[in-house]
Amino acid sequence: MLSVLKSIVQEVNTAEDLREALEIIVSRVQAAMNTQVCSIYLQDPNTERYLLMATQGLNKEAVGKVSLGHNEGLVGLVGSREEPINLEDAQSHPRYRYFPETGEERFRSFLGVPIIHHRKVLGVLVVQQRESRSFDEGEEAFLVTISAQLAGVIAHGEATGVIGGRGLTGERARDARFTGVAGASGVAVGRGVVVYPQADLTAVPDKTVEDIESEVQRYQAAVEAVRNDMRALGEKLSSQLRPEEQALFDVYIRILDDSALSVEVISHIQKGLWAQSALKRVVQEYVRHFELMGDDYLRERAVDIKDLGRRVLAYLQKNVQERRTYPKNTILVSEELTPSMLAEVPKGRLAGLVSVRGSSNSHVAILARAMGVPCVMGVFDLPFAQLEGRRLVVDGYNGQIFASPSTELLSFYKSIVEEERQLEKGLEKLRDLPCETLDGHRMKLWVNTGLMTDVVRSLSHGAEGVGLYRTEVPFMINERFPSELEQRDFYREQLEAFAPNKVTMRTLDIGGDKALSYFPIVEDNPFLGWRGIRVTLDHPEIFLVQVKAMLKASEGLNNLRIMLPMISCVSEVEEALHLIHRAHYEVCEEGLNVPMPPVGVMIEVPGAVYQVKELADRVEFLSVGSNDLTQYLLAVDRNNPRVAGLYHSYHPAVLQALFKIVRDAHAVGKQVSVCGELAGDLGGALLLTAMGYDALSMNAASLPKVKSVIRRVTLQWAKDLLQQVMGLDNHQVVKATVDLALKEIGMEHYLRPIRPLE
Ligand code: PEP
Ligand code: MG
Repeated sequence: MLSVLKSIVQEVNTAEDLREALEIIVSRVQAAMNTQVCSIYLQDPNTERYLLMATQGLNKEAVGKVSLGHNEGLVGLVGSREEPINLEDAQSHPRYRYFPETGEERFRSFLGVPIIHHRKVLGVLVVQQRESRSFDEGEEAFLVTISAQLAGVIAHGEATGVIGGRGLTGERARDARFTGVAGASGVAVGRGVVVYPQADLTAVPDKTVEDIESEVQRYQAAVEAVRNDMRALGEKLSSQLRPEEQALFDVYIRILDDSALSVEVISHIQKGLWAQSALKRVVQEYVRHFELMGDDYLRERAVDIKDLGRRVLAYLQKNVQERRTYPKNTILVSEELTPSMLAEVPKGRLAGLVSVRGSSNSHVAILARAMGVPCVMGVFDLPFAQLEGRRLVVDGYNGQIFASPSTELLSFYKSIVEEERQLEKGLEKLRDLPCETLDGHRMKLWVNTGLMTDVVRSLSHGAEGVGLYRTEVPFMINERFPSELEQRDFYREQLEAFAPNKVTMRTLDIGGDKALSYFPIVEDNPFLGWRGIRVTLDHPEIFLVQVKAMLKASEGLNNLRIMLPMISCVSEVEEALHLIHRAHYEVCEEGLNVPMPPVGVMIEVPGAVYQVKELADRVEFLSVGSNDLTQYLLAVDRNNPRVAGLYHSYHPAVLQALFKIVRDAHAVGKQVSVCGELAGDLGGALLLTAMGYDALSMNAASLPKVKSVIRRVTLQWAKDLLQQVMGLDNHQVVKATVDLALKEIGMEHYLRPIRPLE
């Protein structure tokens, strides 16, 4: 059964559109289950009725015509109960409903299972049999498995149609909405530019071309280039390989020479597809074909075809990368956005960001907030490849994007974009005013930086220093570890820009979701693995070079602070301090006059929360990384959109931990700040101020808003709010309470906008 299941899923995955996918499902399931009928009914979101979308066995004329109300018939019953219904004699069931146009009267037995995707019933998959037959448990389980596996493909197919402006029945559809999680607040209206990692066939977007002749030539040139590469590779390795191994290269060249493959690709191009999509379609078809073969040797050929496909694609992309243009209001869309993709967009052109993977605490989202670019993450149902050149709306407040927006929706969002521009102007006035409550309690506001653009924004927003400089950002945009001298230049830039204010530089925090292309870390559980200080203590040569570069960069400025990430025990602090002292000694030996900088520890691992005093005794300051602390306390991966609803820094357990940290740090006379995203959240900033934190460090875009909210309240008001919140046991109630308080003080503009359609 498993192999049948696999082959159905594979076949469906290569279908060109929803209709074809549904046809494959009904015909393959009918055959596999040896029944007379297999049909699919899908819920039409416009009419909320179940529409017969495909059938094998019933009258095909009824497809697209027969529909049942939400609660009508056995199909409606399966949908509303959200469980299978298995009846030997369906006609005697009180909910049986008969449609003469389907010819259904002949069929007695019925097995229907719901098609559910992310808790939503998309439709019902039904099999029927003329004679009375009780489908056994195994058959029922098979249908449930098929339905669960295909729900995602069906959701994707539906979404693709809607993006193209077509509903289930081919009618015009508008305002196709896709929900992910809010990555960076704000709203953007612009055109989609789909970017994808090099040479990833599955990520190739579908596009059309006008100049077919030159597209064919482009394809042929890429194939020729790969053929040459393969020959060269084969020759280069000829002395090291046995003849049978070397034959692999001949196989590759033969596949390339095989005119069938190229003929198919060229025929797709001639229908108007660009070479990349044409190649993708043919390669996927070949791969599917080979993977279904019983013979191991032939199955292995699928790998060769995939590899060759990627190689040809790499050549095709080489030309394209150079030619990519970014329109004025670029909405960058990708399966997985990376910092370097953002960096490629020319200044002033990036309006919004959409990523299929990742969550609000992924580093790309953090960068987006730092740059003030609205961003939606984790839109995992999005057929992103279809969005090239399309008009899009990004709603970074509600974590949604809209394709094919109607004029009403566009004008609503354009008015919000304008309103935000005005609000921003109003905030500029706050730049030189102190961040203090109405009753005179002063709060230090620092910024988190990584890119040089952050520095420029921070200074214009009135930052009083840097609470977190993420040094991994300059490491990420390099192709090897930067040298001491190169690092010294980055660091000097930051230190000089903020002097005499303090700049807190965090030592390299890679691992987890922060990968360096030139230092890959592959682990099953990266967030619980080799991360942050664990990596750098194992590689003192990297750590020492970094610390020395920081120390040398601070010469004459003396505004450096060094901070250690991912500390989970005191011995890590002791070892790191030992290395920092050694680096300092060596720098002084070289003749530089640099004082030993203050060193601090990040509290972001639950274990560290219970050792705040012991850790604080060894260093000068502490800073809470609330992003990781939330992730580890709640056991919720900060990047996984499936569990994003459970990730909440307003969770009472997180708030209790934050309160404990500040009390314990102050008990031993050490200052403590927060540098996670909670510090830049309006409600979060108020709660942290009330708890007694000494400084808040956030992205530059949030700083004026946080200053504005703190200047509107008294410390006592914030403490009352905190007291109220600490008595609550549910993060949603905490959020609602805090939002209400923000409304009371006139900050409702900064809460998420409510669309008129809701
Ligand atoms: C944090 O974890 O809160 C933090 C500030 O560090 P990062 O987001 O870079 O992991
Ligand atoms: Mg962290």
